[in-house]
Amino acid sequence: MTVQKKFNKNHVVKNIDKTLYGIHHNKNKKLIKNTITHLQKCSKYCFAKNQGNPLELRENVQALIPHQFGDHSQCQPRFCGFKRNPELKYVHRSLPYKANLKHDQLRTQLEEVFKPIAFDAETYSQLGSSQQCEHANGEVLLPVPKSIHNGNSEALDFRVHATSATSAVMCINWCC
Ligand SMILES: [Zn+2]
Repeated sequence: MTVQKKFNKNHVVKNIDKTLYGIHHNKNKKLIKNTITHLQKCSKYCFAKNQGNPLELRENVQALIPHQFGDHSQCQPRFCGFKRNPELKYVHRSLPYKANLKHDQLRTQLEEVFKPIAFDAETYSQLGSSQQCEHANGEVLLPVPKSIHNGNSEALDFRVHATSATSAVMCINWCC
């Protein structure tokens, strides 16, 4: 039996949001909300455009933060306007003052957020939808709804295995 592990797309995106707001609140006020909103959009775009293409996802994610800081050395024309028209002055339409982000410390912190995704691009390029995860959870816990189930019985183990075998989708990490 092979079980395909999947991250839930919505939870991956939410987790990125949480980490970005963590940087905003605790460490670095240089990361303002407009920038967070822009990075959220970029990360969603990365996942949406590169499903099924781990190499392209890794490339895109690795370039995501340097790009915001005006470093286009890892960018590709398919996702970078500067690479498409290097002779024009590139403007970040969605960033504050339409300018490159600054501050090395901020860049390092932001790059750390996306490193695990680049590292595990294989898994992140095959994200599951909420429906798939909730469907799997629903099967595992039938007939007791997830919200009121507290037990951890052998029967549950058995049902988990049975569900994994039939649906071949098991959601891990932030899914449940
Ligand atoms: Zn770029």
